[in-house]
Amino acid sequence: MKLHVATSQGELTLVVSDSLYSQCVFVRQWGLLVDLGDFMLPDMAGVRTVLLTHSHLDHVLHGCAKLALYAKKRDRTVPVWTSPEDAERLPELFGQLAAFDRIPALFAALDVRPSDEVEVRSDLVARPFTTRHAIPSRGWTVWRRTSHLLPSFEGLSQDEIAERARAGEQVEGASEKPLFTFTGDTTLAGIPEHALESEVLVTECAMPSRGPALERFGHLCPVDIEELLTRFTGRAMVVTHTSHRTREELTGIDDSRMTVVGAEAP
Ligand SMILES: [Zn+2]
Ligand SMILES: [Zn+2]
Repeated sequence: MKLHVATSQGELTLVVSDSLYSQCVFVRQWGLLVDLGDFMLPDMAGVRTVLLTHSHLDHVLHGCAKLALYAKKRDRTVPVWTSPEDAERLPELFGQLAAFDRIPALFAALDVRPSDEVEVRSDLVARPFTTRHAIPSRGWTVWRRTSHLLPSFEGLSQDEIAERARAGEQVEGASEKPLFTFTGDTTLAGIPEHALESEVLVTECAMPSRGPALERFGHLCPVDIEELLTRFTGRAMVVTHTSHRTREELTGIDDSRMTVVGAEAP
């Protein structure tokens, strides 16, 4: 499903997987793909950076062969950033898939690396946060960096500021604001405050109602989404990883900032 969301930095085009069994979101303007679920073929040329949340197969398996085949054919390498643990395990999986396909170098096009900070653009940096899920999992937030004049220099002329900067004085301070967050799979307790301050929040709703299974499997339910919306200060919340049952429950929530993504069973 393709969505257009307005942000303070202009419109973003999101390509979001609409299957309960395959998860990913692609931010076209940044060439950023989070998780390797299935995604639309025409957009593959624009994939510059891949971030992974965790190694459940619905988040790594569907898109990896497609992206590897594409990148190999065009002699490209696509960096795939993940946790240190998964950076060790994934090449093993990719190696076996390549051997199965009898093209040894196939998945070499996906360059899996561990990282806690990924530059998405010169003014955008992605950092992971730990979520609560059945296995170790990380959400990712893209922060926008801005610089501003330090208060002690306000009121001075441009020439004087430039002169003092040349003399080695620090005249500017930096600040960061959360622009985009993809939580991946998590319970409510795994969602940090800064995710709720993101202009765009992409989250999940895989389970139909509260109960012990919810904690065990580590997912959100519609009651959680309702609670998140009361604390969410951003512009758009996109709810993915939905089933027919969760979508039915979510229709009872009236909030124009929320878009529920999910396809009907054929
Ligand atoms: Zn999962
Ligand atoms: Zn999942």
